[in-house]
Amino acid sequence: MKEIENLKEAILKDEKEYPRMDLDTKFKFRCHPGVPCFNECCADVNIFLTPYDVIRLKNALGISSQEFLSKYTLAPFDKNLNYPVILLAMQENESKSCHFVGDSGCTVYADRPWACRMYPLGLASPRDGITGPLQKEFYFLLQEPVCKGFSEDKEQTVAQWLDNEGIDDYSEMGELFKNLTLHSFFDKGGKLDPGRMEMFFTVCYNIDKFREFVFESTFLQKFDVDDALIEKIKTDDVELFKFGCQWLRFAAFGEDTMKVDSTVANTKLAELKAKQKLK
Ligand code: SF4
Ligand code: SF4
Repeated sequence: MKEIENLKEAILKDEKEYPRMDLDTKFKFRCHPGVPCFNECCADVNIFLTPYDVIRLKNALGISSQEFLSKYTLAPFDKNLNYPVILLAMQENESKSCHFVGDSGCTVYADRPWACRMYPLGLASPRDGITGPLQKEFYFLLQEPVCKGFSEDKEQTVAQWLDNEGIDDYSEMGELFKNLTLHSFFDKGGKLDPGRMEMFFTVCYNIDKFREFVFESTFLQKFDVDDALIEKIKTDDVELFKFGCQWLRFAAFGEDTMKVDSTVANTKLAELKAKQKLK
């Protein structure tokens, strides 16, 4: 994790090594099965997974989010982390290759993670309310020494690259995740206790477990949730994640994003009044 933190710092500070790019910036790069390094980047690599990556991959593989997490991810523990993160696990073979790399390339290509789509581009996002040169989002190039794609003759803009790689589908979900991970709660020094960390992990990465929690506990008795939305989140993982974000903002950050059922609210009020009478 330290290595990653150092890289982040270098990207933000060292504009010479990591020049800032916008959507119109052109760069030369092409990756195809004919490059001499084909598949070499799909081994021994740190790939952070987003909630949408997990949803796409576990559905493509036809397994539950719990099974996906157990088989294909690592959750590094670091007491300095504000929120839980997960990495794509590599195999325990000599080259530490990705579980999904095959002779002809990525076997989950249509549902490959955001980071795999983005490479060789990286994206730096500012925190809420930040001022100065880092307040604007920017792209940068990550040039892995093994990668020969930079010697290819194809030139494109950042916008063209994002379009070709299908990044749009990932953007809305990425924004929702960013609204959680870059929440001002953390800037103000807020720390999630273990219970709320677990809650964050479940909503963001273990979406099937979150569904069980919503439908198999007293959750829907406590909160006033629209019937049409209840129907949607029974089966739609993307809608469930969006709903989960709303709930996390309420439960983890104390925002007013959920409607508490009026019966529950009245009971709580009555309990509160009864307690006050006793005093
Ligand atoms: S998911 Fe696919 S593209 Fe990404 S590292 Fe694994 S094999 Fe490579
Ligand atoms: S190392 Fe670069 S060029 Fe080679 S396969 Fe990976 S992304 Fe493509």
